[in-house]
Amino acid sequence: MEHYLLPDIGRPGKIGCSLPSLDVTPAELPPKELLRQELELPEISEVELVRYFTALSKLNYGVDTGFYPLGSCTMKYNPKWHEDVAQLPGFASIHPYQPIGSVQGALQLMFELQEYLAEITGMSATSLAPMAGAQGELASILMVKAYHHTRGDKIRNRILVPDSAHGTNLATAAMCGFEISTVPSDDRGNIDLKSLESMMNEEVATLTLTIPTTLGLFDPQIAEINQLVHQNGGLLCGDGANLNSLLGKVKFGDLGFDCVQLNLHKTLSTPHGGGGPGSGPVCVKSNLADFLPSPLVAKSGKEYTFTSPTKSIGSLGAAYGNFGVMVKAYAYIRSLGAEGLKQVSENAVINANYIKEKLKAYYHLPYDRVCMHEVVFSGRRQKAKGVKTLDIAKRLLDYGFHPPTVYFPLVVEEAIMLEPTETESKETLDAFIDAMKEIARDADENPEILRTAPHNTPIRRLDEATAARNPDLRWEMGKT
Ligand SMILES: *Cc1c(COP(=O)(O)O)cnc(C)c1O
Repeated sequence: MEHYLLPDIGRPGKIGCSLPSLDVTPAELPPKELLRQELELPEISEVELVRYFTALSKLNYGVDTGFYPLGSCTMKYNPKWHEDVAQLPGFASIHPYQPIGSVQGALQLMFELQEYLAEITGMSATSLAPMAGAQGELASILMVKAYHHTRGDKIRNRILVPDSAHGTNLATAAMCGFEISTVPSDDRGNIDLKSLESMMNEEVATLTLTIPTTLGLFDPQIAEINQLVHQNGGLLCGDGANLNSLLGKVKFGDLGFDCVQLNLHKTLSTPHGGGGPGSGPVCVKSNLADFLPSPLVAKSGKEYTFTSPTKSIGSLGAAYGNFGVMVKAYAYIRSLGAEGLKQVSENAVINANYIKEKLKAYYHLPYDRVCMHEVVFSGRRQKAKGVKTLDIAKRLLDYGFHPPTVYFPLVVEEAIMLEPTETESKETLDAFIDAMKEIARDADENPEILRTAPHNTPIRRLDEATAARNPDLRWEMGKT
């Protein structure tokens, strides 16, 4: 690891750039007591610095370098020209407080995106304000709460969350002050209807349902679920992070959902991961439209303006959300069109099912049925031989693949959750499948090579528990 640190290649007196001579009056320095005597910065020549950062950049793994089947995250390749569009000065250089007449184009884009997302989800209205999937969930639950309260229905203090749900669903419900009850899955990976029936009562504000579920399965009982929830006065909230499997095919509104959040940074052309900006618009039926977070963009005549719904839950952060992400989603929808969006979901689903069929003889498949955009295996066969799912994930690094999501969803023992996405070729999928087969063989014949993996990466196994609990995020001179 040491050789990745600048001080090792820096030497006192080396210089990487020369500054032009001063041609303005020097500004006054801050008071002496605020100035440091020694500024411990590495000294390095330009070529060494270029090589240093180029070497570092090559350590990065991303969708641009290889296959990245991280389940639930939709790590697909996104066209580069969408980044170019988002960087056009008329989009990138505008300011939230400049006169509204000078940003009509940006508002038109937001207005049309609101409409497109409502159309794609089969809903009546959209707010683009939330800046992440989890924040979109928060907006949904705050709207549900406001809806019940406005109707004088104040005893609904409980939210039902299926046991396969993403952790944010539970966190959101708790943050909004609700009690949480977990709805079990049945042995086919669907919601256990009997349990749901027994849990639905006048205390339940909503069921938050991910569809398809994080098991990659479409719950065919959705009509019954919808009826059970609504006949007891509850609302049905969707977690739309898995929209990549439904685009152009199935609409949340048609399935009976009252609201759903989308993850533009998964489905609609902003790369996910790396902590970059996200966007989690909420789309709602007319019963929740008055509660949407503000602002919305409205059109009157030829003018676009910002408005706030009458009973809005308020704003969710600075200004208008993450505009650059909206531009990319807009470019994606406009360039693919309705037919193209359909093909996205078709290919995403076919790719996942291809992997499922090719690997099910090698890894335990807890739910052996047609999957949607992702497939969840269990590493329990390998575990019985002393090879954990974590070892399998680490070994994939040696083959040059990013590992899948592991140990989630929680309802599958030693879960291996694969989402290939629509942008991968058959050749890539075959190479990955071959690697997974070899790993399954090694679990029988050479388990040690898996337990000690990875072998070819710049850094071997990290102490992940310490890294998570005691992160050391600040570089200091002389400290390695
Ligand atoms: C990614 C994801 C979320 C959370 O979205 P963020 O944008 O990361 O906050 C919620 N639910 C599911 C199913 C997801 O995959």
